[in-house]
Amino acid sequence: MASIPTKTLANGIKMPYLGLGVYKMTDREEALQAMVKALESGYRAIDTAALYGNEKEVGEAIRASNVPREEVFVTTKVWNTDQGYDQTLRAFETSLEKLGLEYIDLYLTHWPVEGKFLDTYRAIERLYEEKLIRVTGVSNHHQHHLEKIFVKANVKPMVDQIELHPYLSQKPLVNFCSDNDIAVTAWGPLGRGKILNDEIISKIAHHYNKTFAQIILRWHYQNDVITIPKSVTPSRIIENMNIFDFELSEEDMKTIDSLNRDYRTGQNPDNFQFDF
Ligand code: NAD
Repeated sequence: MASIPTKTLANGIKMPYLGLGVYKMTDREEALQAMVKALESGYRAIDTAALYGNEKEVGEAIRASNVPREEVFVTTKVWNTDQGYDQTLRAFETSLEKLGLEYIDLYLTHWPVEGKFLDTYRAIERLYEEKLIRVTGVSNHHQHHLEKIFVKANVKPMVDQIELHPYLSQKPLVNFCSDNDIAVTAWGPLGRGKILNDEIISKIAHHYNKTFAQIILRWHYQNDVITIPKSVTPSRIIENMNIFDFELSEEDMKTIDSLNRDYRTGQNPDNFQFDF
């Protein structure tokens, strides 16, 4: 079984370049079978969040698989309504309990809630100092959010998880992260199914005899971006990890880079509102 390459983060910890995203996996049996299938097929990372309501299943899937806990990179996130210093510490306890784990690999601020995200990150730093998490990070943070964190932090965020796909390449933010040794993870790496009929990508896929999804995931990888595509379908779970046996030419990389149109499938971190 081919193994998924890893990216070495700012503190030397290795994070797989590809993991399973589990947003909207709310059917317990379906979620469990997808996660166990992924782990048994070679995935070594799962991306969940308190919001997704399936942390319990993530822990169960790890225990049900034949993969040792220490080989799986588990990410979870503190939801917006639980942010602030003390609240984040409490939310973390709840997540840890649901997962049934003794530590979490990566803990993220889900969205930069104004007036709270700095304290949320301070709590994440404390969890890191206490060795309850192995890596610190944030999600949906723009450059200006990160710069505010830098002023106060002892440990910079090591990961920023942002919406990223060929129609939203966020080059300035990606370059800023790279200059500051912050690994970028793409959420919605496949554009959440909304870009799956782009003709240019389809042509490239045909040329390499790969699928549309594989071309996009490979493009992310060659841009040094970590991805967490979501699927509950066993054949797609496997398809999505089979991207490490071919290489896109420089020209094809540039062609896909040029598809950017600043198109968000989700909300803008400068102006977001959730009613949950
Ligand atoms: P995605 O880009 O991974 O797209 C998922 C969709 O693509 C699903 O409908 C799936 O059926 C389809 N798909 C998957 N593999 C396919 C394939 N090989 N061929 C054709 N279709 C395929 O979008 P997502 O689920 O929103 O994002 C991935 C993960 O990112 C989530 O599960 C979650 O873990 C994370 N996420 C984080 C945030 C955040 O705010 N930090 C927001 C959204 C998602």
